[in-house]
Amino acid sequence: MQNPKYNRIVLKLSGEALAGNKGYGIEHDILASIANQVVEVVKLGVQVSVVVGGGNIWRGVSGSARGMDRSTADYMGMLATVINALALQDALENEGMETRVMSAIEMKEVAEPYIRRRAIRHLEKNRVVIFAAGTGNPYFSTDTAAALRSAEIEADVILMAKKVDGVYDSDPLNNPNAKKFEDLKYIDVLNKGLGVMDSTATSLCMDNTIPVVVFDLTKKGNIYKVVMGEDIGTYVGR
Ligand code: UDP
Repeated sequence: MQNPKYNRIVLKLSGEALAGNKGYGIEHDILASIANQVVEVVKLGVQVSVVVGGGNIWRGVSGSARGMDRSTADYMGMLATVINALALQDALENEGMETRVMSAIEMKEVAEPYIRRRAIRHLEKNRVVIFAAGTGNPYFSTDTAAALRSAEIEADVILMAKKVDGVYDSDPLNNPNAKKFEDLKYIDVLNKGLGVMDSTATSLCMDNTIPVVVFDLTKKGNIYKVVMGEDIGTYVGR
């Protein structure tokens, strides 16, 4: 059998990925389907960590736009990611996976604190590690947390889960002539302002040469395909 292309991955799930068509809250069937896809690659021996967003519950910028203190609103967003992380942990455990939630904000009753060496040890034991609470700092995003954790645990790639099958030059949902990029350079993502991830996250990936594959999570089996090296999304690199 062919070997996986990547041995240690960071899967970035936005909060909206857990929400289904409603765009908010947590959809049980979607969680189960994601957990199922994760199991497929863990069974290949791939070390899987997940950074989960919180946009399905709360986004700091929206609170701040309504006059809320930005840092407070961002801490609320980070707490939202912990809710999603626990939901995902539950779904993975229903599939028989061993998992650990590691939080960047200490809350030892519900999650382990994030300790880099311990996270690596969990991965080596084939536990799925879910990184919660982003970077632990306001004014950042969970995309940046994905880039940061990838650098720290020396992941081979970030799998950036989206609802479209890659990066386009314009929104494919609104423009039928939108062109998909097969490969992109970090600098082009920054210069063209493409919606892969925010510029802080892109810069961190660029400075540390962390490859990013943008792919469609809504098609079952796609995590497996990306891990096996199939060209189904957009590859962002040097
Ligand atoms: N957040 C933060 N620092 C971080 C990560 C997240 O302050 O390191 C907050 C921020 O308010 C953000 C919210 O948590 O809006 C949810 O994260 P994000 O928007 O990245 O979630 P996603 O878009 O992936 O669902």
